[in-house]
Amino acid sequence: LSERIQAPRGTFDVLGEAALARKSLEDTSRGILERAGYTRIETPTFESTALFARGVGESTDVVQKEMYSFDDGGGDSITLRPEGTAPVTRAYLEHGMHKLPQPVKLWYLGPFFRRERPQHGRYRQFAQVGAEAIGSDDPAVDAESILLLAEILEAIGTTGLRLRLSSLGTPDTRAAYRDELQAYLRQHEDQLSRDVRERIDLNPLRAFDADHPGTQRVMASAPLLLDRLNAEDAEHFATVKQLLDAADLVYEVDPTLVRGLDYYTRTVFEFTSDALGAQSGVGGGGRYDGLIEEIGGQHTPGMGWAAGVERILLSSPEQPTAPPPVELYVAYANPEHRTEAFRLAADARRAGHAARLELGGRSLKGQLKQADRTGARYVAILGDEGTALKDMETGEQREVETSTVMHHIGRGL
Ligand code: AMP
Repeated sequence: LSERIQAPRGTFDVLGEAALARKSLEDTSRGILERAGYTRIETPTFESTALFARGVGESTDVVQKEMYSFDDGGGDSITLRPEGTAPVTRAYLEHGMHKLPQPVKLWYLGPFFRRERPQHGRYRQFAQVGAEAIGSDDPAVDAESILLLAEILEAIGTTGLRLRLSSLGTPDTRAAYRDELQAYLRQHEDQLSRDVRERIDLNPLRAFDADHPGTQRVMASAPLLLDRLNAEDAEHFATVKQLLDAADLVYEVDPTLVRGLDYYTRTVFEFTSDALGAQSGVGGGGRYDGLIEEIGGQHTPGMGWAAGVERILLSSPEQPTAPPPVELYVAYANPEHRTEAFRLAADARRAGHAARLELGGRSLKGQLKQADRTGARYVAILGDEGTALKDMETGEQREVETSTVMHHIGRGL
């Protein structure tokens, strides 16, 4: 016997009720996003490596350690997409969407890939639902976008939710602040973790994320970007907050909120759930006014988020799982009736009914048991003497013409 091959580490199969829950999450998201004017976009699951290196940022964990990148055999480096924003903005540019009325609102749902250490809620292939609004820097775009994710999570029943919100300002403010923070970190270098010390030059903001106690003590008195915003950015942020207040959305301003990706400017936010454990991030995003220039377009503001499908479902205890109820089960006593039974089941499905045919070679008794197990409302039993139709709900049974079965399942016996 050869060794059994298993799914790769950090991946999983979606079966049965899990598939139904995912489908229902997709339907809920689609409803909420499309009512708000978002249209669906699908981009390839792989892109040029350069798109993510430039779009997500060379210094990020995602680009440095987590990408599945490989030579495609023709000398081009391609990468399985680790996130959705860079691909969507690439598509925006490629299709000249700046000519459409702005902002262009797009949503997506699909698989993403990161070579992370797998654990509960963290996988190497996972699904994200995401939404991007490109082409306007109006703070109402930010507030609307955040509100839509909140509505989706609420509709799905995600528990233990917390929304944190902050602003990262514009690149200039951020650069000046970065210098200030780097100087501060250097002053306290001896108290920092090695990891943080090594990243002072590359990514000093990540120091706020550290779980190292010494680093956390230093960061408690560190200067905050939120206190350094210029007047315009501060006003932008104040308007976002005011609009969220007007929508009665509860949030906490967290000046230490750092997103893992480099492209964010101004608004950033994250939903976490305390039902999740260590990997508590359910979804988040923010404004990325510099991203499109980074990947070769004109200056174009954008705002969006992505939420993890598995994390949403893990933190949403009750999931509506309703397979379509079986309306008709076609049973037959004698193999001679197989063709007729096959045709009846096919016709019933063509007419829009959920119909099953006996496929397991069971005895008639076994078939009736199986029909009961599927929850079928009606069972048609094809026999030498004709066809009997049984209403499983009332127990009533009648001899009928096979050709009238469909009429009866529509109208009752
Ligand atoms: P990010 O693109 O890193 O902001 O991630 C957005 C959301 O995607 C997170 O809040 C998670 O819900 C989900 N997510 C990110 N990475 C993973 C992963 N490796 N496994 C499962 N979900 C993930």
